[in-house]
Amino acid sequence: MLEKAGIPVDPSVLMGKDFQLMPKNTPITVARGDGIGPEIMEATLAILKGGGARLDIEEIEIGEKVYLRGNSAGIEPSAWESLRRTKVFLKAPITTPQGGGFKSLNVTTRKAFGLYANIRPCLSYDPYIRTKHPKMDVVIVRENEEDTYSGIEHQRTYDVTQCLKLISRPGCEKIVRYAFEYARAYGRRKVTCFTKDNIMKMTDGLFHKVFDEIGAEYADIEKEHWIVDIGAAKLADTPEVFDVIVMPNLYGDILSDVAADILSDVAAQIAGSVGLAGSANIGDGCAMFEAIHGSAPRRAGQNLANPSGLFLGAVQMLVHIGQADVAEKVHNAWLKTIEDGVHTYDIFREGVSKQKVGTKEFGQAVVARIGQKPTKLKPVDYSKAPTRPLTTRPPYKRDTAKRELVGADVFVFWPNGTMEQLAAKLQPLASDGLNLEMLSNRGMKVWPGGMAETFTVDETRCRFQLPEGKPGSIPHEALRALLERIQKAGIEWVKLENLYNFDGKPGFSRGQGQ
Ligand code: NAD
Repeated sequence: MLEKAGIPVDPSVLMGKDFQLMPKNTPITVARGDGIGPEIMEATLAILKGGGARLDIEEIEIGEKVYLRGNSAGIEPSAWESLRRTKVFLKAPITTPQGGGFKSLNVTTRKAFGLYANIRPCLSYDPYIRTKHPKMDVVIVRENEEDTYSGIEHQRTYDVTQCLKLISRPGCEKIVRYAFEYARAYGRRKVTCFTKDNIMKMTDGLFHKVFDEIGAEYADIEKEHWIVDIGAAKLADTPEVFDVIVMPNLYGDILSDVAADILSDVAAQIAGSVGLAGSANIGDGCAMFEAIHGSAPRRAGQNLANPSGLFLGAVQMLVHIGQADVAEKVHNAWLKTIEDGVHTYDIFREGVSKQKVGTKEFGQAVVARIGQKPTKLKPVDYSKAPTRPLTTRPPYKRDTAKRELVGADVFVFWPNGTMEQLAAKLQPLASDGLNLEMLSNRGMKVWPGGMAETFTVDETRCRFQLPEGKPGSIPHEALRALLERIQKAGIEWVKLENLYNFDGKPGFSRGQGQ
């Protein structure tokens, strides 16, 4: 009656004061995917159910069948609705059909929902699953939206293609803060940053700078930075010295696979970790959880595949949706199963493993151990798991530095002539206080004072700039007029890149050799 009248009613009022409100179920979206996907999802959901996970599951179809129905994204518009509603996606691997034109569903989902943080724990289960690095326990936090993955690529001349590497300050702040919040929430002692800022001083330099700035707010956590190539070698050699590593997108993509690979015992041909690693893709509103491996079509339908990667992705999901109690229970049961030597074919090893089981039986073995903890492997403890979203952060404050236009790099098509000839044609075209400062080819300065030995291609960058160090700026109109003069002089300009000073300091790099 009261409800009908639009007045919300506390159920305990109607059912007496002994009534206990049942914890609410969390709606999630599940996709069973292709290949081994349906089998490993079935086993994973059976374990979650056995552990008492409080879930309302909405199923959607994604992957091969959807692609082949002519949907180049591999996901129907109605499925987006489910994700928009639940904001939590547990996704089995899919098969991307061979041939061009099919877009990566993972990239689409990450971009569409702003899933900026990719979290991939890489942990050794030695001696039950053999590895050369028994002490490895690394979590890779990879930026997921920016960098060369913006997908902005062009062929500009016959010789030259380009891919834009975009790194933004808010993008860096989001991922770096997430890494520190993650470290703190999960009791980790150190966050390491990998960049290549000795070469890319502006883009990777910004990532490193933001790491230093935000890191200063986390006095309880140790911080360090490595140049990515040296860091990668160190990771392959002694992964146990690392804890949480935060990286821009491209390095993170490569190194999270490297980390998974070095965990596996390549010498013994045991792809230990491929079936064992799960990953989370986290955004401010939505999150997606999955295994790192693909759909392994050759193993499909045979009850062979290891469901552990997807299961460990699902454990991250349980913590994310506030069911850390269930996460701890099922994760410990899984560790006990591994420790008891109940193994699928991919991790089975004579002398260590006790029982070779199929996908379904592995799931059943984990369910049978719910309530138990491992005795040799370290049990997990999620009692201090975060109770608020790790994506919480202070509002972004945009810099207020004075931004002034001081010139432009004009990229021109110059297939045949010499650099001296090009400079002679361009010098008289500079006006509005601009000087032709430099010509560079593939980044290397070739005028003035170029070297005959330098290899050149059919596109040259021409830097027109106000004298350095002198205050002042030019109007945009000056650049339009410059481009017109260049075109009239019979030189084709291909691209314009404005040069800005910020509070009088150049926001652009010098040419190599300048
Ligand atoms: P894959 O990860 O499917 O398989 C690589 C190897 O690992 C195979 O030998 C496979 O048998 C084994 N393997 C993988 N998962 C296993 C598991 N759970 N248990 C036991 N063994 C396992 O990689 P692939 O063969 O390069 O790709 C197959 C398909 O998966 C392709 O269509 C690819 O596009 C797709 N793919 C999808 C995703 C995703 O959906 N996230 C990721 C990677 C690849």
